[in-house]
Amino acid sequence: MQEYDIVIGLEVHSELKTNSKVFCSCKNQFGQAPNTNCCPVCVGLPGALPVLNKKAVELVIKAGLTMGCQINDLAVFERKNYFYPDLAKAYQISQLVRPICLGGQIELEDKVVRLNRIHLEEDAGKLVHCSAAIGTLIDYNRGGVPLMELVTEPDISSADEAVEFLTRLRQRLIYAGVAECKMEQGGLRCDVNVSVKKKGSKELGQRTEMKNLNSFKSVYRAINYEANRQIEILENGGTVVQETRKWDDNHSRSVSMRKKETSSDYRYFPDPDMLAVEIPREDVERIRKTLPLMPDQLRKRYVEEYGLSDYESEILTREKALSDYFNEVLSFYNNPKEVTNWILTEILNKVKDLSEEIAISPSDLAKLLKLVEDKKVTRTNAKEMLARIMENGEKLEALEKEYAGSVDGDALRALVETIVKNNPNAVEDYRTSDTPEKVFRWFTGQVMKETRGKANATKAEEFIRELLK
Ligand SMILES: [Zn+2]
Repeated sequence: MQEYDIVIGLEVHSELKTNSKVFCSCKNQFGQAPNTNCCPVCVGLPGALPVLNKKAVELVIKAGLTMGCQINDLAVFERKNYFYPDLAKAYQISQLVRPICLGGQIELEDKVVRLNRIHLEEDAGKLVHCSAAIGTLIDYNRGGVPLMELVTEPDISSADEAVEFLTRLRQRLIYAGVAECKMEQGGLRCDVNVSVKKKGSKELGQRTEMKNLNSFKSVYRAINYEANRQIEILENGGTVVQETRKWDDNHSRSVSMRKKETSSDYRYFPDPDMLAVEIPREDVERIRKTLPLMPDQLRKRYVEEYGLSDYESEILTREKALSDYFNEVLSFYNNPKEVTNWILTEILNKVKDLSEEIAISPSDLAKLLKLVEDKKVTRTNAKEMLARIMENGEKLEALEKEYAGSVDGDALRALVETIVKNNPNAVEDYRTSDTPEKVFRWFTGQVMKETRGKANATKAEEFIRELLK
């Protein structure tokens, strides 16, 4: 393994977040009854004409701007001809010669991965394999959904880097509002090109391609499997064949599918139904102004302005939903360090994954932290309240009444007096000890224990100090 370099290039397809499809007005919506979001255009009936969805073009430009791409001033659509049952027209409208975006890059921890291009095309329908008796059915709902294809240069050298690249790309697309990247719905799919070469050699090895991987885990496993397979072939004196292979996640192996096509096999030609798209510079600048902060910019802000650690800011920005949540809590309660502590410990240990909706609203979390700050409830109580809100759906207002300073005033004073009276040794300790604060904390602990944490903490401390004098 040490004697070889692995060379990886990725082609990543993301479904764009538009209301309608890319060449017709059918809805772009996942999970509808089969073949209900279809029209003559997206099932390719003869004579039906495509009309370009401007929003889809804008989203590709937006994606490109987040990765430093050059935006072409003229984009052209070609037909990519091939037959497949889920592609009713027997061609896909795609882009070859003049894509919307060229170049660009994504920075990883230890390297920069250059992009070759980003272009716009249409998704195909979906084959649904049923029982042997029924056979395979076709659902055309996905046909014509706008798809962005991003092609990298072969700059990636390990499965880990491939996953890191995809993680950063996914973040950017979600942050920019370009795509939702729901991998379980096929919203982000990846073709992986892998080749190996002798360490340090300039000459690239023969590559193979694995199509349509739809989880980071299968990308990771497929790359390692394929690199090892190729190395084994070379070690045994064989040659790697250029081909498309199918990754079988259940059996953790890839199998040959077909000999690799080249672009000439697709007989690309300019689509006579599609006008070339002019992209004025004013439009590009207008779109640039709508770009929100990207995760790396947010991380920088969290570290430099809020004083968070790299680790904290990395977790908070991993999912857009979480950084949005954090920012919103801060808009009600501007104490980044304290909010971060609560989110990273008490909140995240109650959710299954970071993109999950958090079962306490940002304003309620802010109110709860304010109650702690004002010493209306203790930290321990606040943690219990948070758990009851998030796990049982209880209301903050009701819990506040239950917890906040319910033992107060004369009753609290009487309780403190009793505790002081019953513990003369501790009182003596407090007066003679070098560390009276430790004894003081023992007394507050007793009060909280007796009241099950429901004492007004500020008042309790006041009474204890007074009675211990
Ligand atoms: Zn349609």
